[in-house]
Amino acid sequence: MDPSVEPVIRFPTQLLIDHQLVQGEGAAEAILNPATGELLCEVTEATPEQVHSAVAAAQRAFQTWSQTTPAERSQLLLRLASAIESNASTFARLESLNCGKPYPRALGDELPAVADCFRFFAGAARCMTGSIGGEYLSGFTSMIRRDPIGVVASIAPWNYPLMMAAWKLAPALAAGNTVVLKPSEQTPLTALLLGQIAVDILPRGVLNVVCGRGANVGQTLVEHPQVRMVSLTGDVATGRKVLQAATNTLKRTHLELGGKAPVIVFDDADLASVVEGVRSFGYYNAGQDCTAACRVYAGPKIYERLVADLTTAVRSIKVGLQDEEGVEIGPLISDRQRSRVASFVERAQIAGHMEVTTGGKIRNGPGFFYEPTVIAGARQEDEIVQREVFGPVVSVTRFNDLEQVLGWANDSEYGLASSVWTSDVGKALQVAKRLQYGCTWINTHFMLANEMPHGGLKSSGYGKDLSMYALEDYTVARHVMARF
Ligand code: NAD
Repeated sequence: MDPSVEPVIRFPTQLLIDHQLVQGEGAAEAILNPATGELLCEVTEATPEQVHSAVAAAQRAFQTWSQTTPAERSQLLLRLASAIESNASTFARLESLNCGKPYPRALGDELPAVADCFRFFAGAARCMTGSIGGEYLSGFTSMIRRDPIGVVASIAPWNYPLMMAAWKLAPALAAGNTVVLKPSEQTPLTALLLGQIAVDILPRGVLNVVCGRGANVGQTLVEHPQVRMVSLTGDVATGRKVLQAATNTLKRTHLELGGKAPVIVFDDADLASVVEGVRSFGYYNAGQDCTAACRVYAGPKIYERLVADLTTAVRSIKVGLQDEEGVEIGPLISDRQRSRVASFVERAQIAGHMEVTTGGKIRNGPGFFYEPTVIAGARQEDEIVQREVFGPVVSVTRFNDLEQVLGWANDSEYGLASSVWTSDVGKALQVAKRLQYGCTWINTHFMLANEMPHGGLKSSGYGKDLSMYALEDYTVARHVMARF
């Protein structure tokens, strides 16, 4: 890119508390560019007093926001969506710098989905349906209401910071709740910009954005008695902590946790599309995706060709800086995350029976890059098959028959996403029925639509993001009965 046309990026560092943009008064957090390791800026985290102020502001705002009509809320969410679109290149630039993502991917893939998420919930808020009212006891009329819950603490991860914020904010606000959003301490920039933009659109206190680490700012929110619901996207271990912390105040929790998606490839699958699919969906966002196509099971006849072709295809993935021509994936989020990924691959190599057919190395030079990696010969009991790596690493395991692969696919702590690849639609539907995962794709993987629910089973959590189901999650069903 010609540096003369590169806009000057002003990093947003102010929190949004009670309609005021203020600096955090706590410890400073270094915000890095993972592609170079360089410091972008520092964001100071919220003190406990600032977190309390944010919750108090949201609590006050709830009194009026919860009484607005769906049409009124819808109008404001539509304005927010348009404002996000108008600022799409700045959002994408910040996201790309802060996460190391290729800029075109942030701009072309994520920003449209973010704006559409707000638009979907703007419409959905006006279209909720439910049971009909009626006389279920003679002389009494009953009706069901779906009402907002109160102050929601939305706690987001670092892999898709703005998109995860959108998934949380849009249904919560559409339903009439007010929100305190805490982005990941590593990737707060787009949430802070969203806060800046929302000041001109949303009424006072409806949205607050506070930054800081999970152990203090996150924990303070989860324990806060006036926070009525916590929505977390993050690690399973964090989900457990949040759940424990929420018990004292018996909060509603909405958890979207990790994943380890099985990709079942039958012998009759179209090999070229499987290879293209796993190349794209196993490595997108450098594999830092809870739905990543990372655990491939291949039938006995297709296994060898799949390993060979996938290896060749993965070698061609272009890894690089945000603005490099043709770049497909960037670095991992941090040196720590890269070491974690590397240690999984090292342990797989030490095990002896697996072969790293491509990748398996840290890329020299600045930034937290790790080579796209294929590990062949993995067995069901191997750590690489069982645990979430959250990096550009795909394992391939050979299976013999349908019952065996179904057993293996379901033999997982996780239950978020899965896919099945075959030219036999009957078999695909049979397998889809029996997979214990929140989502099963057939002859594809990874595709999401704002109209369709996203969420898991087992340790992947139990909240639903996107769709009318998310709107339900952010409301409470109430019974009103009148005597006549
Ligand atoms: P993380 O669990 O480390 O952090 C997530 C958020 O929780 C951060 O904002 C963090 O500050 C906060 N947090 C940490 N400890 C906390 C505590 N004790 N109390 C309150 N908040 C706390 O996760 P991460 O490393 O940012 O993200 C990666 C994880 O997220 C992966 O496991 C991935 O699978 C998962 N993820 C899941 C989905 C999904 O839809 N299921 C989507 C994206 C990411």
